[in-house]
Amino acid sequence: MRTREYKCYYCKNKIKTNEELIENKSNDGKKVLYRIHKTCFEFREKEKLELDSLVETIKKIYNIEIIPSSFYVRLQDLRNGNDTYNKVKKSKNGYRYKLIEYTYRKKYPDIKKTLPNINGSINQLNYGLAIVRNSINDVVLELKARNARKKELEKVRDEKVVTKISKEIVVDKKEKKKPLPDWL
Ligand SMILES: [Zn+2]
Repeated sequence: MRTREYKCYYCKNKIKTNEELIENKSNDGKKVLYRIHKTCFEFREKEKLELDSLVETIKKIYNIEIIPSSFYVRLQDLRNGNDTYNKVKKSKNGYRYKLIEYTYRKKYPDIKKTLPNINGSINQLNYGLAIVRNSINDVVLELKARNARKKELEKVRDEKVVTKISKEIVVDKKEKKKPLPDWL
């Protein structure tokens, strides 16, 4: 007997029953079932939290209560990697919301400086986003370089530890002539 195949409403790929999760959403009192992968569900929840955090940061920078929905679309474009100029749409192919937020925080002084010279909050928002858009790639490179340095430092530290341990083992062997333990 063939069982029905379902597609994940989030990633549009097939769902095997053991990785399925059914979401129950009621719109206007009607119950709607959405089938979604567990991993997709978790990813989507994480994205939501990251977007919320980004929006809070933007509100603080601009001292505003609400972000216009048209601006949400622009944030999503940056997230998805959409090329609005050439009308190319992609999905989750751009920069993570977390990284966009980090860039906003980093560029905060630059954004703040532009505010008195621009009229209208939507123009101010757009100009700030342009600053973020222009610097986000440099931020990525900077973070990668920092990460590589960190790994290099960890490697050096690990090597020192290994040298220290092997010296201790040699000393131990000489003095007590114990057999080496199995785990070495
Ligand atoms: Zn999925």
